Amino acid sequence: MFSSQEDLKNKYGLRKTSDWLNLQKGDNKVRIVSDFVDYGVHTFKDKDGKYKSVVCIGKENNCPFCANKVPVKVQFLGWVIDRKDGEVKLLKIGWTIAQKIKSLQESEDYGFEDLPPYDINIIKSGEGLNTTYTVLPARQNTSLTEEEQEKIKSKIKDPMEIIERMREKVMGSVEQPETPQFEQLVPDNDNLEDLSF
Ligand SMILES: [Zn+2]
Repeated sequence: MFSSQEDLKNKYGLRKTSDWLNLQKGDNKVRIVSDFVDYGVHTFKDKDGKYKSVVCIGKENNCPFCANKVPVKVQFLGWVIDRKDGEVKLLKIGWTIAQKIKSLQESEDYGFEDLPPYDINIIKSGEGLNTTYTVLPARQNTSLTEEEQEKIKSKIKDPMEIIERMREKVMGSVEQPETPQFEQLVPDNDNLEDLSF
């Protein structure tokens, strides 16, 4: 019924698990290296009671979740350098974190135009519905090294393209003759997000 995780990763051009950064409890030091693009997701409990998230393809594309009045919420997708291993990864954030980064951008001391010239630490605490996030900017601005700039150039693509591919995948399942169960629409475990945003 499902494509293998490997197939899906190839399909999305995400070859390695490490392409996604999953926020861990505690410190998550990152450097934002691209724009973040917003998109809608539906989150619901599957038959095992686990939360799942699926990209909304829009009412105009007969999104079955919109049709079933499953609430939609906004998420943002962009690229960061994970300071844990120095790799360039995709990061998905909700409104809470996005808003905190936005207030840094608009602040007198930490303001920036396109991308912050400093690292940020996204500190995750609590669990499940009680998860909270704090965003701390580094005290000092740091330039990206040549090696980092090379990695960014060779790896990142417009987050919009990735979102489009996730939508196409969901639309593929919607066009099947039988109405799919919600849990069959989930494209990839890596795309799941907890509900805390
Ligand atoms: Zn929808």
